[in-house]
Amino acid sequence: MVMKTVLITGSSRGIGAAIAKKLNPEYKLVISYHNSEEAALQLLSELRKTNPLTIAVKADVSREEEVDYLFYVAEKNFGHVDILINNAGISHYSLLQDMSFDKWQEIIATNLNSVFLSSKRALSHMLARHEGVIINISSIWGETGASMETCYSASKGGVNALTKALAYELAPSGIRVNAVAPGIVDTDMMRKDFSTEELDTLKEDVGVCRFAKPEEIASLVKYLISDEAGYITGDIIPIDGRFR
Ligand code: NAP
Repeated sequence: MVMKTVLITGSSRGIGAAIAKKLNPEYKLVISYHNSEEAALQLLSELRKTNPLTIAVKADVSREEEVDYLFYVAEKNFGHVDILINNAGISHYSLLQDMSFDKWQEIIATNLNSVFLSSKRALSHMLARHEGVIINISSIWGETGASMETCYSASKGGVNALTKALAYELAPSGIRVNAVAPGIVDTDMMRKDFSTEELDTLKEDVGVCRFAKPEEIASLVKYLISDEAGYITGDIIPIDGRFR
């Protein structure tokens, strides 16, 4: 069976790295990073022990020219990208009135513009081949909104709307587009924004009384990109342990 190529944006750490490990060695993998070069190269050497068809590329996915470079390297190595996972993201915890416009633009560029840029770039080959899968890593805040995370919520709400609209646009072309909307996942992103005490309090709001492990999000992604999920498109799939 022909191995498909999966490109995962922001896969040096957290959920992106967990997705790469979960998909290894069944897929050719393009992992990408922005600042965490050491972590990315360590992950690359771990993945290559069982799968030599793995590369790591440095790219800031909020910038069009760097997204172009990321796909250029991916296509040079593997021909084309079959499956795109738009995972890269940043959060920022503050009141709206304390937030600068620069910070607002940085979050929208990283969380939402990147999805436009990478999806557009991936589609040139997917449309020609009449097949492909795009998974966007959203958040439950994109649906419900979260206090002190207005911009993050807006960016993920945008990702949700983009997912649904693009799925309609691409369904006739045999390309599926879905989003996964986690609740709280145990990664650096949460540890950066909240103290241990605050995280313990937050756990009380989760029905299953714990945060998700990144591997649990990766398992859902692995199913959604498979042919088993061939009838699922345009959906925003929550995975939140029953968060209130
Ligand atoms: P994380 O541990 O902070 O990792 C974020 C990843 O995104 C890193 O690999 C980082 O790369 C990459 N990244 C950030 N800005 C980038 C840029 N401009 N260009 C390229 N890569 C960039 O976060 P995480 O928790 O795994 O989050 C992954 C995704 O899940 C995000 O979209 C996030 O919004 C979403 N999510 C997370 C949670 C949660 O509770 N953790 C909940 C819901 C949704 P470098 O380190 O190399 O810069």
